[in-house]
Amino acid sequence: MERIYNFSAGPSMLPLSVLEKAAAEMVCYQDSGMSVMEMSHRSPVYEKIITDAEALFRQVMNIPDNYKVLFLQGGASTQFAAVPLNLLSENGKADYILSGQFSTKAYQEAQKYGDVVAVASSKDKNFAYVPKTDRNSFRKDADYVHMCFNNTIYGTKFPYIPNTGDIPLVADMSSCILSEPVDVSRFGVIYAGAQKNMAPAGLTVVIIREDLLGKARKETPTMLDYKTMADNGSMYNTPPCYCIYVAKLVYEWILSLGGLEKMKQLNEKKAKLLYDYLDAQSYYVAPVEKESRSMMNVTFVTGDAELDKKFAAEASAQGLKNLKGHRSVGGMRASIYNAMPYEGVEKLVEFMKKFAEENPKA
Ligand SMILES: *Cc1c(COP(=O)(O)O)cnc(C)c1O
Repeated sequence: MERIYNFSAGPSMLPLSVLEKAAAEMVCYQDSGMSVMEMSHRSPVYEKIITDAEALFRQVMNIPDNYKVLFLQGGASTQFAAVPLNLLSENGKADYILSGQFSTKAYQEAQKYGDVVAVASSKDKNFAYVPKTDRNSFRKDADYVHMCFNNTIYGTKFPYIPNTGDIPLVADMSSCILSEPVDVSRFGVIYAGAQKNMAPAGLTVVIIREDLLGKARKETPTMLDYKTMADNGSMYNTPPCYCIYVAKLVYEWILSLGGLEKMKQLNEKKAKLLYDYLDAQSYYVAPVEKESRSMMNVTFVTGDAELDKKFAAEASAQGLKNLKGHRSVGGMRASIYNAMPYEGVEKLVEFMKKFAEENPKA
């Protein structure tokens, strides 16, 4: 069977060349005589894989030396608890920006641990835009401010980095990490589940400024304490070995293309093709405010739930899979992460034109 264009929000497409490399090395990795899946994480062969992975990730993202990189398990959702446990002092305060479902979940989780307030929200318009904030939006004595940079479900992205002054900014970048350059120094913590744009599900990366380590509350589970993981090079216990290996291949792939500046150009070109089409016609509506549009997740509706359903089914039959929107939003969502080729978006736009012609609205 041929590979199809998979518009899934996550787990999602991986670059074909990465899959092929992993396949070629799967049964026998270099001259180790075994698969990466079968190796001790303490073996010299694996040590080199994880060390190289971190070095490449640092290079790709231009991560400053005063930041640690952690390769963890548990998904981004585990970070919703790990962040307050590590950063929120006993009587501390944390401010959350609510721009979608994941930031709301993070906020609800953090409320278990202290004085946690939603300082801005775009819930009034079903998260179709990103709330504006400025320095005065945040409590001066907050331990941190939390945001979700790209809102996977709604298809929005922050068009700006919030100015939190001296307060550490924590960002969930699960669905936009590696899509364009990021000034890491503007953040205290960046975290991301890998399954959107980096690797198979099972790996979560955390990038944390060193001065924020060692402040975890005493009841913090050892496994969630960033310092434990930092002190042990992400090997306090068995890390998600195979996912880290695939992530390494993905970092190499990005570098081979020209790094994140180039990745950004490619992603902008893909997103522009789709948004330009959406803006030029009236059959489909893109509900997100223009300046908050995501480059990774593009949402649109026909305005008729039956037609939306038909769209997703017919697209799927044409090899354009997983275009159904999230159950909480409806309509369609095309996730066009790094690994989605330009041709995939071209095919999608062609299909959208044809579907609109063949299915006039009453
Ligand atoms: C997918 C996603 C999550 C949830 O990730 P898990 O790894 O499944 O816990 C959280 N935040 C964002 C922005 C996401 O896209």
